[in-house]
Amino acid sequence: MTSTTPHSPQPDPETGAAVKAADRAHVFHSWSAQELIDPLAVAGAEGSYFWDYEGRRYLDFSSGLVFTNIGYQHPKVVAAIQEQAGKLATFAPAFAVESRSEAARLIAGRTPGDLDKIFFTNAGAEAVEHAIRMARLHTGRHKVLSAYRSYHGGTQQTVNVTGDPRRWASDTGQAGVARFWAPFLYRSRFYAENEEQECARALEHLETTIAFEGPATIAAVILESVPGGAGIMVPPPGYLQGVREICDRHGIVFILDEVMAGFGRTGTWFAADLFDVVPDLMTFAKGVNSGYVPLGGVAISAEIAATFARRPYPGGLTYSGHPLACAAAVATIRVMEEEGIVENAARMGAEVLGPGLRELAERHPSVGDVRGVGMFWAVELVRDRATREPLVPYNASGEANAPMAAFAAAAKANGLWPFVNMNRTHVAPPCTATGSELKEGLAALDAALAVADSYT
Ligand code: PMP
Repeated sequence: MTSTTPHSPQPDPETGAAVKAADRAHVFHSWSAQELIDPLAVAGAEGSYFWDYEGRRYLDFSSGLVFTNIGYQHPKVVAAIQEQAGKLATFAPAFAVESRSEAARLIAGRTPGDLDKIFFTNAGAEAVEHAIRMARLHTGRHKVLSAYRSYHGGTQQTVNVTGDPRRWASDTGQAGVARFWAPFLYRSRFYAENEEQECARALEHLETTIAFEGPATIAAVILESVPGGAGIMVPPPGYLQGVREICDRHGIVFILDEVMAGFGRTGTWFAADLFDVVPDLMTFAKGVNSGYVPLGGVAISAEIAATFARRPYPGGLTYSGHPLACAAAVATIRVMEEEGIVENAARMGAEVLGPGLRELAERHPSVGDVRGVGMFWAVELVRDRATREPLVPYNASGEANAPMAAFAAAAKANGLWPFVNMNRTHVAPPCTATGSELKEGLAALDAALAVADSYT
């Protein structure tokens, strides 16, 4: 399936080699052992595809890091950034600036309930940092409860509330963070046999955790509406509403982290809409402008905004609401509406991706579970379907991770760029992806799963 197409430039291996050499000499990469990585030199991208300097083209089922919800190089968004750069490339945050106020107005118009005030940040982690600070100041309490299967960012505070192993090396074990188990039926911590049991027991567990942590000390419960990086685990119906009710009863701020799940990914503007739940604070980033210029933020309820109506909010960022990033957000939101991109994500998830992945699960013994919604799916690979033993051990690296590395290599050889995380491949194409692109990706996954099957 690897091909050179009209999308692809002429191969230019010499430039590719120079780009790679400078990268290897001077770029220090995230989450990596610097000498053990071999980053692909990327020459360009458009829509659902990107390509390298050899002229090899890849269908991007990872949307970057799950952020290019409108695909690469959307001409209207690129033009809006260029236009804003010509008009007013930058300006300090404490001013009313057209692209900033318009972005805030458009975002507030789509967030659920009364989340009508927008604090802009440059990324998701900063959004979570500030949401936690707001919750602490609003309640006068300190403790934050977060889920074990979660990811909330790579800064110190957000690592501390993250649940998954990315926190292990740098979590300071900060007093004031306690973790609980959120629902996940496939690997239930509650011995549940169905979603109703999982939901009820997970809520009871949260209630007990709060009781033992001391309700009057807890500022916030933070959850991803659909946990993403830790495995795309769509919560059972009633769970988030149940958490909402528990938080209300104890005066705890409910923070929903929609950094990955927001802005169309789940086939709704926000994943919270799927569950008809309104948090007190909602963080966003990534899809807000498809990452064309870094942007994130916190959508704030009227009650919490009122806390800072006559008392200063003690926090800020030099580039908060950067005009270029906000112009990209305005254009992105308009494009999403004009082109029905949220609806496309819902329809393609229901009609192509979900059925296609389930069909693969029927034929491939290495597939233990398929779950997701919209353009947000996880395929969990196992050695044994009956025992659900993961294809690689938890947080495996090196030789122990060989089966997943072989799976990823096979996907790439078939023209598909997969998102591989532990024993899972996440399927998160741009929300603009067409039925035929998705079918092309499913065919490549089919071939890669045959490699995974050889390890079962
Ligand atoms: N929260 C969630 C749910 C995320 O998925 C991420 C990033 N993957 C973050 C926060 C952190 O965002 P950023 O990397 O933009 O700081």
